Amino acid sequence: MIRETIAAITAKAMPKGKYYITTAIDYVNAFPHLGHAMEKIQADALARYRRFAGEDVRFVSGTDENSLKNVLAAERAGKSARELVDANAGVFRSMGEALSLSYDDFIRTTEERHFAAAKKLWQACAKDIYKKTYSGLYCVGCEEYYKEEELVNGLCPEHQKRPELVKEENYFFRLSSYQGGIKELIQSGALRITPKGRENEIMSFLNSGVEDICVSRSAERAKGWGIPVPGDETQILWVWFDALANYISALGYGGDESLFEQWWQNNPRIVHVIGKGIVRFHAVHWIGMLLSAGLRVPSDIFVHGYITSEGQKMSKSLGNVVDPFALVEKYGADAVRYFVLREIPSTEDGDFSVARFEERYNADLAKGLGNLASRITTVAAKNQAMDVREQGDVAAEIAKAKDQVGRSMEEYKFNEALAGIWGLIGFCDRYIEQKQPWKTNDKNSVGNLMYALEEIGKLVAPFMPETSGKIAKMASGEKMTLFPRLAEETKS
Ligand SMILES: [Zn+2]
Repeated sequence: MIRETIAAITAKAMPKGKYYITTAIDYVNAFPHLGHAMEKIQADALARYRRFAGEDVRFVSGTDENSLKNVLAAERAGKSARELVDANAGVFRSMGEALSLSYDDFIRTTEERHFAAAKKLWQACAKDIYKKTYSGLYCVGCEEYYKEEELVNGLCPEHQKRPELVKEENYFFRLSSYQGGIKELIQSGALRITPKGRENEIMSFLNSGVEDICVSRSAERAKGWGIPVPGDETQILWVWFDALANYISALGYGGDESLFEQWWQNNPRIVHVIGKGIVRFHAVHWIGMLLSAGLRVPSDIFVHGYITSEGQKMSKSLGNVVDPFALVEKYGADAVRYFVLREIPSTEDGDFSVARFEERYNADLAKGLGNLASRITTVAAKNQAMDVREQGDVAAEIAKAKDQVGRSMEEYKFNEALAGIWGLIGFCDRYIEQKQPWKTNDKNSVGNLMYALEEIGKLVAPFMPETSGKIAKMASGEKMTLFPRLAEETKS
């Protein structure tokens, strides 16, 4: 009864319809690591799940290329900034193919369509933009000013570097005017931030008093790289003002705006998937900019944690950066997708280690799902009884798994969704042992197992699209191995 009531409320609050989902756009001054991959995989699972549920989905990712960091990295590499961003954006884009990410579009902030959108957004905010001489501590890594009290031992908390003192005349955005409006959006539930702890952080930031923000830098300091301020070529847009605009530039804002009208202005479900380090930019700065421009604001911000490598923060100097391409090469895209979705709690930090990865692979994929699929299809090949379904325990277990997947996906709990499917796999393992169909030739239980396998194939589709396709082929009689067991020597 209670569950029915909750389901009815959820159905009302979340009408089936349009679903626009975005990822953060990555800086291209370095290559992607597993942390970048995790965010995109999470967003892809959400996009695929919604499409599967019959919703109209648009899924966009991209790259953030107008940062001074790119100019500096290009100088070090003896290239032009353009050459560097073209090459590196290509790598980020190809990660989409390697990991089976179902992007509908990929926006690069050096594209003309993005320049047009960012400039239009600036002009739409013009009433709140003013000029002021400012001096402050600026971290190039963060592309952000810091107050002395925000530093840790005088260093940027993200980069452990001393920010440089910058003094110049810049444009400012009257973010302080939107403090109340943003609070109201969050308190009314019109803007949902998941998890709740991140929302609390934003509320206490809003309550502490929001100051106006600097939204440009001199073209000289930017080394001429970036989007010029409309009407003032001596200034370049602050990278965050520029980058945040990607969510609407990818929909044609400032150009042909038909997608923008459809997916932004007239769409109640707009979901940003981001990491915990950039919540304030999305939940405060971005919302303020949209309110100023008189545009719709997103409905949801989902914030994931960070991924560590063998217990430590990934860093070049430690040599523990996990390359997603190498993992895909060795284990396959679906195994990588499975690991990050199952092992890393979606809103918290989690760890990658080769040992843990291989443990999961062998236990859950090779032995769990892979073994079950081959046992069921082998016994089915000997007992042609595909259509006998008794709708007993098996049907109830399938319904239970579907229910858990549905509830967990609403809450962005990918690990719990997968645990639900693996509960069904465990049930099937016990069922097959109990019924021993290879001895009894009981067509009824074979039919039930085939039915369960087909349903498992559909349930895993948002998480492991390739595996889902393979299970469908196995169910129609094709012989294959889903996940070959890893040889012992790879564990060394
Ligand atoms: Zn920094």
